[in-house]
Amino acid sequence: MSEGAGANLKEGGLHAPLRHPLDWKNPDFYDEEKLDAELRRVFDICHGCRRCFNLCESFPTLFDLIDESQSGELDTVQSEGFKEVADNCTLCDLCFMTKCPYVPPHEFDLDFPHLMLRYKAVEQKKGETSWISGQLSETDRNGKIASVAPGLVNWANHRDNKYTRPILEKVAGIDSRTEIPQFHGKTFLLRAQDEKIVINTTAPAYGRKAVLYATCFVNYNNPDLGMTARRLLAHFGIETEVVYPGCCGMPQFEQGRLPQVATSAQGISEAMKPWIDLGYDIVALVPSCALMMKFEWPLLLPENGTIQKLAESTLDLSEYIMTLQKSEGLPAPVNAISDPVTLHIACHARAQNMGRKAEEMLKLIPEIQLNVIERCSGHGGTWGFMKEHYEVALKVGKPVAQEALKYQPAVVTSECPLAATHIAQGLEVLEPSQGLMPTQHPLEILARAYGVL
Ligand code: SF4
Ligand code: SF4
Ligand code: SF4
Repeated sequence: MSEGAGANLKEGGLHAPLRHPLDWKNPDFYDEEKLDAELRRVFDICHGCRRCFNLCESFPTLFDLIDESQSGELDTVQSEGFKEVADNCTLCDLCFMTKCPYVPPHEFDLDFPHLMLRYKAVEQKKGETSWISGQLSETDRNGKIASVAPGLVNWANHRDNKYTRPILEKVAGIDSRTEIPQFHGKTFLLRAQDEKIVINTTAPAYGRKAVLYATCFVNYNNPDLGMTARRLLAHFGIETEVVYPGCCGMPQFEQGRLPQVATSAQGISEAMKPWIDLGYDIVALVPSCALMMKFEWPLLLPENGTIQKLAESTLDLSEYIMTLQKSEGLPAPVNAISDPVTLHIACHARAQNMGRKAEEMLKLIPEIQLNVIERCSGHGGTWGFMKEHYEVALKVGKPVAQEALKYQPAVVTSECPLAATHIAQGLEVLEPSQGLMPTQHPLEILARAYGVL
C-alpha cells in the first residue's frame, strides 16, 4: 500500500499496522476463486495462531469448521462453510487492531476484517444479500418516514408490544426482544436551527469553531444528545454548526455495498469542504461514523483529496473534547458525580487508535467512580438486532454484562449508543428483576458535571 490513509495507526505488533486501500474497483476483488484462495491462506494462518478464539463468533465458527473436518486441517473444509464465518463478523476491527501480529507491514499481510468485507461485497454483487437487511440499512429514508409519525412508530417498535413485534420479527427478521431506538418528529438538525445557543466567551477555547456531523443516529434517534453536545461545547467556548448531508454509509459498509458507501463519502466530503476551508473542525457524534470518515472512506477512495482532507479534519466527539482540554483548556466542572458508572469502550472508538478518550473525558469529573470495560459488547450495529444473531450477540456480550453486574453501576455508558443498550439488555437477562438499566452517553455524564444537563 501506499502509506496513505491508514498509516497513522499504531496499535498491534512491533510495527505500526497499515491498511491497504480497498481494491474494490478491480474485477479480481470479486473473482470467487481468487477470494477462496485468499480466505484459505488467511484462515490457515489463523488456524495456527488462534489468538482471536474469544473475540467474537467468527473465529469460533472458523475453528470449529476446521476441527470438525475430516483431516482437522483446512484442506477438507468445504468453502460453503466460510459464509457463516463472514456472516458472524460485525467488522468491529478488534482482531486487526488489538490482537493480530500479522497485519501489514508483516509479510503475512493479514487484514481479517477487510477480507470479511470482501466476502460480503462479493455476496452483494451476486445478489445474495437479503432484501430486508438492505432496507434496514437505509437509515436516512427510514428515519425520515418514522419522523412523520414517531408516536405510532415507537408504539409499534416497543418490545412490550405483543401485537406488532412478532409481526416485525416475522417480516423484517428483527428479534422481538431487541430494544429498538426511538424516533423523533423533530430531528437534531431542526432543533439546532430553532435553538439559540449562547457561547461562553470567557472559556479558554473561545474562538474555535466546529461542525457537528449529526450522524443518522443522533439526527433521527437521539437529538437530545446532539443538543447536549452543542450546549456543552458552547460552555467550552465553541461555536458549532450542525451539518447533516446524509448517513456515513456504515450500515451499507457492513453489508459490502461499497459503491453506495463511496457515493456517500463523496457527497458528504464535498458538503464539509467549505466548512473546513473556513477553519471549522469536523466532529462526528458517533464513533462508527468517525471511523468511516477518518479511515474507511480514504481506503475506499484513496485518490480523492477532498475525502483525505476531511479525514484529517475529523475528530471523534470525546477526542475533540480532550483536544480542547489539552490545547486551550476547559472550565472546571461544577458538580461531582458519585454514582458508580460502568464505561464500555466502544470497538469503533478503539479502532480509531486514539486512546481511551471517553475514559479520559469522564476522569475530568471530580469523585467519579469508574469501572472501565474494554471488550466487545456483542451488538455489531443492526447485526445484533436480527433474530438469527440476537442470541449470539447476547453470548458475545455476556462477559461485559457479567463484569458490569459485579460493579452494580447506577448507569451504563458507552460512546456507542447501541452497545450501551445491548449491555443493559445483557444485564437484564442476568438479573431480570432489575429491569433495563439506565444508559447515558459519556458526554451526557460530563454535561451533568458541568450543570449543562
Ligand atoms: S472484525 Fe471483529 S467480528 Fe470481525 S472477525 Fe475481527 S474481531 Fe471478529
Ligand atoms: S486474525 Fe491474526 S491474531 Fe487473530 S487468529 Fe488470525 S492470525 Fe491470529
Ligand atoms: S455509523 Fe453513524 S451515520 Fe453511519 S449509520 Fe451509524 S450512526 Fe448513522
